[in-house]
Amino acid sequence: MPDAFADHLIDTPPAAENSLAVYTTLRLGGPAGTLTTAVHADEAVETVRAASAAGRPVLVLAGGSNVVIGDAGFPGETLLLRTGGIEIVGEDPASVVVRVAAGETWDDFVSYAVTNSLSGVECLSGIPGSAGATPIQNVGAYGQEVGHTIEAVHAYDRVADEIRKMTPAECGFGYRASVFKHNDRYLVLSVDFRLERSSDSAPIRYAELARSLGAEAGDRVPLDLARDTVLKLRAGKGMVLDPEDRDTWSVGSFFTNPVISEELFRTLGEIPHWPAGDDMVKLPAAWLIERAGFPKGFAGDGVAISGKHTLALTNRGAGSTTALLDLARTIRDGVRTRFGVDLHPEPVLVNCEF
Ligand SMILES: Cc1cc2nc3c(=O)[nH]c(=O)nc-3n(C[C@H](O)[C@H](O)[C@H](O)COP(=O)(O)OP(=O)(O)OC[C@H]3O[C@@H](n4cnc5c(N)ncnc54)[C@H](O)[C@@H]3O)c2cc1C
Repeated sequence: MPDAFADHLIDTPPAAENSLAVYTTLRLGGPAGTLTTAVHADEAVETVRAASAAGRPVLVLAGGSNVVIGDAGFPGETLLLRTGGIEIVGEDPASVVVRVAAGETWDDFVSYAVTNSLSGVECLSGIPGSAGATPIQNVGAYGQEVGHTIEAVHAYDRVADEIRKMTPAECGFGYRASVFKHNDRYLVLSVDFRLERSSDSAPIRYAELARSLGAEAGDRVPLDLARDTVLKLRAGKGMVLDPEDRDTWSVGSFFTNPVISEELFRTLGEIPHWPAGDDMVKLPAAWLIERAGFPKGFAGDGVAISGKHTLALTNRGAGSTTALLDLARTIRDGVRTRFGVDLHPEPVLVNCEF
């Protein structure tokens, strides 16, 4: 059966039956206990409800681009979410509310928005995975986060056994965080985005993007120019999936940028940083990793830091989750020894520990 998310894995060597590796962008992970594909929201809800009733753990998997699955796999029920659909559910003179099914490919939705002169998600072009996973870690890049445009998340609540419409406040969006992350209570079914009617981008907030556009921070540029420029910047960093390029066999950034107290920051000397509110400071994880002695290409056993981006840990083809996490721990320990700062993983770890 054609699979929007697994198509790019077509060149991956044949894996063991029920291997979850073929459903992840890392191409890592052992077998599923049982694997159910849902193309309709009600099938997805029924699968989760039945597993709950039977006391079986559930792993929801969509694009597999933000999970690290252990080599032993996942013994419970794996739900492959393959629902689709984009529809306008509200409009006013200035904006449109677009409802996107959870299993819809995220970048197809961004492309739809740009093509239809709807502004607000263009800087999130090229991010792999599904629309329904974007609220999970408040997906963000190049100055935009989905939390800026999400109007509501429709989710099946396993505890209350009901479908809820959750407001942004209830979603608790933060930096690569929300109430959904590390919490299997909710199955996101669809997401409503409020987008501005405009053929111009939202004001550009990210310095590197502004420079590439020849614009100033705060300028607005044509939507398609913003999208194309972001896609080029991302491709140069191995941040757009390309089956031929093992620098993209990753989960994107493996580590979040650490947020530390100003007190700790003052002890560290000259380090690039951004204010993070409440007497906190955000540090660039890539800078810390490089200065701690881990350059691009630094390799472990069949795994390595991407040759294009220090934050991306990649499977070179013969890697394992064990080797990937060993490499991640080596980097974490090196940064802690050099700077006294802790790095935390961005992806969700399934049946494995960091
Ligand atoms: C090359 C590359 C670049 C990337 N760049 C970025 C980036 O710039 N910014 C960024 O924020 N992320 C980035 N990522 C990470 C990833 O693409 C996003 O987090 C994406 O939203 C994950 O979507 P997915 O469908 O692949 O989720 P999956 O990997 O399938 O799932 C991730 C987590 O969300 C849960 N989940 C998924 N769908 C649902 C649902 N419908 N309901 C409940 N839980 C669900 C899963 O159970 C799991 O815990 C990148 C990844 C790669 C490989």
